Amino acid sequence: MRWRLYEVRDRFPNVCESDISDYTDIKSDIMNIRRESGVKITFLEHSGYVIEERDKAMIFDFYKGTLPAFSNRMKVYVFASHAHGDHFNKRIFEWEGQYPDIHYILSDDIKDRGPEGKCTYIGPRRLIQLDEMEIQTLRSTDEGVAYLVKLWDKKIYHGGDLNWWHWEEESKAYNEMMRRKYQHEIGKLEGEPIDAAFLPLDPRQEEQYAWGLDYFMRHTQTRHAFPMHMWGQYDICSKLLASPVSGPYRDRFMRVDAPGQVFLI
Ligand SMILES: [Zn+2]
Repeated sequence: MRWRLYEVRDRFPNVCESDISDYTDIKSDIMNIRRESGVKITFLEHSGYVIEERDKAMIFDFYKGTLPAFSNRMKVYVFASHAHGDHFNKRIFEWEGQYPDIHYILSDDIKDRGPEGKCTYIGPRRLIQLDEMEIQTLRSTDEGVAYLVKLWDKKIYHGGDLNWWHWEEESKAYNEMMRRKYQHEIGKLEGEPIDAAFLPLDPRQEEQYAWGLDYFMRHTQTRHAFPMHMWGQYDICSKLLASPVSGPYRDRFMRVDAPGQVFLI
């Protein structure tokens, strides 16, 4: 029945129970889903996702797209995993005007300076406490960091460009070094229970498109895996779901079809 809720939410982002009291069946769907969950996740573009829980929103790797409408009373945390143009856009610093209670957590390879007193620059393999959040970083196999964020009883992972970047045209030595680096870094999360993980699934990697995600899913206890870095080729989700390799975690893989898609977990 969940598709009905998504449909209502997509059309009327600020819907609340009282607005739809005439539609009692949908109302009860919403009430049931709210009871069992509470985290709303919106796909923006590429590696950009927004996670909303209670009075907090976390925005990861925005470079374009439309933010969901939320109250300017929300505490907003904006994360960027590294400086590459498909993960960071300094337009994010303009959001300060709209959301007074905002804080930026930025990989320290980002040279642009955001609003004073509202930015934390962070390198790989660090652990910091920020308000009620515990933020751990991993070292990317490309540039910058991946984030593991613990907020209340939830754990959120955003990989940035930390991935098993195996390329057919690279040398054996390069690919072997990449395998070792990726497995070593994900080894730090061995067996970790994670509520939502955002993981690269890159069609440019051809036959190796899912190696990184597959390894991650087999070595962590991730409840919801969201693909990213798809370059708009969302049919890669169907490809993974149809492949025997995804068997052990198919029911935990969240299929993405278009920007703006909303998930409740
Ligand atoms: Zn990238």
